Amino acid sequence: MSDSGDFLHKTHVVLFPSAGMGHLTPFLRLAALLVSQNHCPLTLTLITTHPTVSLAESSLITRFLSAFPDRVTELDFHLLPLDPSTAKSTDPFFVRFEAIRRSAYLLTPLLSSLSPPPSAIIFDISLISPVILAVESLPFHLPAYVLVTTSARMLSLFASYHKLASSLTELTDDGVLEIPGISPPISKSSIPPLLLNPNSFFSSLFLDDGPKLKNLNGILINSFEELEAEALGALNGGKVTTADGLPPIFSVGPFVPCEFEKLQGDVGDGDRLKRWLDEQPDGSVVYVSFGSRTALSTKQIGEVGEGLVRSGVRFLWVVKEKLVDREEEDEGNLIKVKGTGVVVRRWVEQGEILGHKAVGGFVSHCGWNSVVEAVWNGVRVLAWPLNGDQKVNAEVVVRSGVGIWDKTWGWGGGDRIVVKGQMIADKIRELMESEDPRVEAERVGVEAKRATGAGGGREKMFKQLIENWKKQH
Ligand code: UDP
Ligand code: UDP
Repeated sequence: MSDSGDFLHKTHVVLFPSAGMGHLTPFLRLAALLVSQNHCPLTLTLITTHPTVSLAESSLITRFLSAFPDRVTELDFHLLPLDPSTAKSTDPFFVRFEAIRRSAYLLTPLLSSLSPPPSAIIFDISLISPVILAVESLPFHLPAYVLVTTSARMLSLFASYHKLASSLTELTDDGVLEIPGISPPISKSSIPPLLLNPNSFFSSLFLDDGPKLKNLNGILINSFEELEAEALGALNGGKVTTADGLPPIFSVGPFVPCEFEKLQGDVGDGDRLKRWLDEQPDGSVVYVSFGSRTALSTKQIGEVGEGLVRSGVRFLWVVKEKLVDREEEDEGNLIKVKGTGVVVRRWVEQGEILGHKAVGGFVSHCGWNSVVEAVWNGVRVLAWPLNGDQKVNAEVVVRSGVGIWDKTWGWGGGDRIVVKGQMIADKIRELMESEDPRVEAERVGVEAKRATGAGGGREKMFKQLIENWKKQH
């Protein structure tokens, strides 16, 4: 892009996602929404770190950049080497979070040399303290925003953690964490396990970064009023007093799959899946997936298979055995039919599946993007949270009425509980047969469309943000 006084293209926003599809995808969806704002043409710089942790990330970045060649420039950020043995976590995605944090001070000269000068930077919630430092060292003022890739409910915990961490240890296992304005309170058993371990990477990240939220110019979140009215209201209205005063929260969700995400040609065997779905009765299929980075144990996979077959419900099940897709074995037979369903061992276009009229239910780990995509499509959810923020998100699923959750299933993985096939079968039947979640999911789906339509919540938020960014000039 030229910088020769092209007035229209002067508003220039820098986006800096962190590692993992659960973080990258919402950033790129936000980017696509920003460049399609026709009342103010924006240009974007996307900061990436290569090689990406997963193959899915590099493939998505390539598709995104080729969809917007004139409006988006990639800035490849070279990280300092990080010896994984000195990292606080062994999870490769969290090791990358840490590597980015340690290298973030190198951003200052890069941001200084951008042309035209940036009007704002929006970065991942996992990068707050170090990116704020880099931005404050610039020779000019650069408004700084984060994009929250989890629920507003989880954000309330993030914002309050530094004040509540000491009282967490005193809570009994069936206790609840009182955050003013957040009702019902978050159960101790829903708190991400890493936040209960004071030595974990996440505890220190939350302790360091929670108090810095107030230094930001705003917080963007992939949620919307009708899904999380209470939490958003409490955060924006200053009720979450444990949070030290927050900047304005812009609920710009729900983010939904975009054109650029489509896999090219038949790589995804997408056509085969689509043909199979086309043959199933409306609302009859349950889609089963635990997101981009959650592998079930072999034992648990066996029980899920058993449960699906026993349920008698038609199913489309994405099986994942490794945390990082690079390690997944290249299986010749990627799609196979089993009883009343289909088993897939590869990346699928989840948005297309959830939007298909044959799909009526979703067994989900409650990664926040998955929850939002289900809600958008009016698909009810059987919550099966397995790690991280997923139980807090499952609380949102239940609270909003769009799904059900059996809390006795506990956290997944490792040597923890293996949920038996019969229990899974019973719950799947309950999900598909009960009336309430079906009706509520449809209702919230309609609200989701309203939030993103003309005159809806998102339009107002974007107008406000873009006005603020224009003032920079
Ligand atoms: N996803 C997909 N196909 C897959 C697996 C995941 O399209 O085979 C997408 C899903 O639609 C969502 C994202 O990857 O947008 C996963 O994010 P989420 O927050 O749901 O969970 P995470 O993967 O971070 O645990
Ligand atoms: N998390 C968060 N802020 C961060 C990074 C992570 O709130 O800066 C939370 C996240 O919501 C979850 C936990 O930390 O509770 C584990 O990380 P994460 O969920 O990001 O992993 P992923 O979504 O990629 O599976």
